[in-house]
Amino acid sequence: LVSRKWKVNPTYIDLGDGIKIQEGGFQIMAGPCSIEGEDQIRKTLAHLKENGISIMRGGVYKPRSSPYSFRGMGIDGLKLWYELAKEAGIKIITEVMQVSQIEEMDPYVDIYQVGARNTQNFNLLDELGKNTDKPVMIKRGISGTIDELLYSAEYVFSAGNERLLLCERGIRTYEKATRNTMDLNAIAVLKEKTHLPVIADPSHGIGIRHHVAPIALASIMAGADGVIYETHEKPEEAYSDGQQTLNFPESNKLIHQMNKTFELR
Ligand code: PEP
Ligand code: MN
Repeated sequence: LVSRKWKVNPTYIDLGDGIKIQEGGFQIMAGPCSIEGEDQIRKTLAHLKENGISIMRGGVYKPRSSPYSFRGMGIDGLKLWYELAKEAGIKIITEVMQVSQIEEMDPYVDIYQVGARNTQNFNLLDELGKNTDKPVMIKRGISGTIDELLYSAEYVFSAGNERLLLCERGIRTYEKATRNTMDLNAIAVLKEKTHLPVIADPSHGIGIRHHVAPIALASIMAGADGVIYETHEKPEEAYSDGQQTLNFPESNKLIHQMNKTFELR
């Protein structure tokens, strides 16, 4: 069902208020790894608005490698964030980690994110197919193949939700110089294989702040329909993923470079 052989016309995701993610267009989604509080949300929204960005990313449920790390503000953080974003005319994308969260999150989400650790949580995928009509962005598994990612999308699609996006966020390889290995090949291959929009996440893809921009630009040339990346007013104080998070001046510069790069494609 997610193959281009089955459906020739590219799927586009209409978020309302004129905001769309679609082949031939280009959407930027940016924001912190974790939602931390009202002040941070307001500052990020202002930064996005200044740059004409319509979608803010952020986690309120955080899958952390260590149980002692910050695990997110939860549903109260989501409600606060959603209201502030709505006021600002900005849509939000956030991770859902388990089936039981869908019902309480649903009114406060514009796009669900399925994280790399849940790409093959087939119960979660089934439920996102059956119990919501909100778009879902599925990230590639940490050690997942391209076909496995497509099968994960197939789960949600066949269960009834066709509003899907795929995200390349780097995979685990033998290489230790970077956090993950951003698989630009996957972007080109996915664009050929599926009618679903393909998003690149260079922040998790390489995991090193000063390398995020070139990988973002390369992803655009590889065919990505959008880029999602992490930005924070003070990355060194961020509750999670500060080492790969751009500060606002770096983010301003990247947005400008991405728009120029997209024009070249
Ligand atoms: C995130 O987007 O902050 C995140 C945890 O991503 P991933 O699931 O790709 O690790
Ligand atoms: Mn992160």
